[in-house]
Amino acid sequence: MIQPIADFNLNASVIQQLPSHLFHHHPHIYIKRDDLIHPIVSGNKFRKLKYLIKHVQENGIKNIITFGGAFSNHMVATAAAGAMHNITTHCFVRGEELNHSFNHYLKTANLYGMQLIPAERNAFAREKQELVETHFGKLKESCFVIPEGGESDFAIQGVAEIVHELPFEPDCILHASATATTARGLLNGIAELNYNTSLLPVAVLKNSEEQSQKINLLFPDSKVNMVKEYDFGGYAKTNSELFHFIKLFIKETGIFIDPVYTAKALFALNRLILNNQISSDKKVVFLHTGGTLGIFSDKLLNGI
Ligand SMILES: *Cc1c(COP(=O)(O)O)cnc(C)c1O
Repeated sequence: MIQPIADFNLNASVIQQLPSHLFHHHPHIYIKRDDLIHPIVSGNKFRKLKYLIKHVQENGIKNIITFGGAFSNHMVATAAAGAMHNITTHCFVRGEELNHSFNHYLKTANLYGMQLIPAERNAFAREKQELVETHFGKLKESCFVIPEGGESDFAIQGVAEIVHELPFEPDCILHASATATTARGLLNGIAELNYNTSLLPVAVLKNSEEQSQKINLLFPDSKVNMVKEYDFGGYAKTNSELFHFIKLFIKETGIFIDPVYTAKALFALNRLILNNQISSDKKVVFLHTGGTLGIFSDKLLNGI
C-alpha cells in the first residue's frame, strides 16, 4: 500500500520476545518497538506529537514553536514532524551551543528545516512565554507553542495508544522516564483498558521525586513503582558497566539502545530480575522509546 508522507508509521511498532539469557532466564520479557516508528527520531516523541499535529492541522496553524537543549530528542522529532506535515518549526535552544558548531542533534533539526534560536541559559530557565513574546511579537498568534519535552494533554492521549496495541495484558510495563509524560500516557492507557498492569518508570536522571509528584497528581490510585536507583549519576551520565551491557545487548539482539535512556531502563530491568523484584511468572513489557541519535555522539561512542 502506498502511504502519504505525513503518516507516522505507528504500525511499525511490533512486539517481540527478548532472549531470556540476557535477563537471568526470565521467560516472559517482551519489547514494544516504538524505535521502529522512525529510524532516528524517538518513537515516544512521535506518540506525543500525534494528536498535537492533528490539532495544529485542523486549526490551519502553520507554525510550531518549541524549546530544547542541544541534545533534545523532542526538538528533532518536532523538526521531523514539521517537515512531514508542511508546518514551519522554530526552537529556542538552551545555552551557548548554537554560537559554536552544531552537534548532530542540531544539524539534524536544521536539515529538517527547523529555525534554531539561541536562548541564553538563564532566560531559557526563567520565562519561556517572554522569550516567545520578545522574539515573535504579534506573529505568535499564528503559532502553536509546545512546552519543552513535548509535555501536553495531547501527548498523554497519544502515548495511551501504546497500551491498546499490546496483544495481551502485561503484569508490568517498564520504560525510561524523564518528564513522566510517557508514564502518564501509559497509565492513561492502562486505565482506559481497565488493566491491572503495574508501571515501572525508570528515572534516567535525578528527578524521581518530581516525576512521582506529576504522576500522583493525575493518577493518585495507580500502580506505579518509580525505579530510582539506575540514573547512573544523572542525565547522560554513564559508566563502563552500562557500556558493557549496551554492547552485549546490541550484539545479542540486533536492537539498538542508547546510553541516555533505553540502556539505563533495560539495565534496571536486568537488575530488578536478578534481585527477585520481578518474579519469573510475570509478563513484562519493555517499551523501547527510541532515541537512536544518543548513540552517535563522540563522547558516548568513545565509551564503547
Ligand atoms: C524523551 C525520551 C524519554 C523520556 O520520556 P518522558 O516522556 O520525558 O519521560 C525516554 N526515552 C527516549 C528515547 C526519549 O527520547
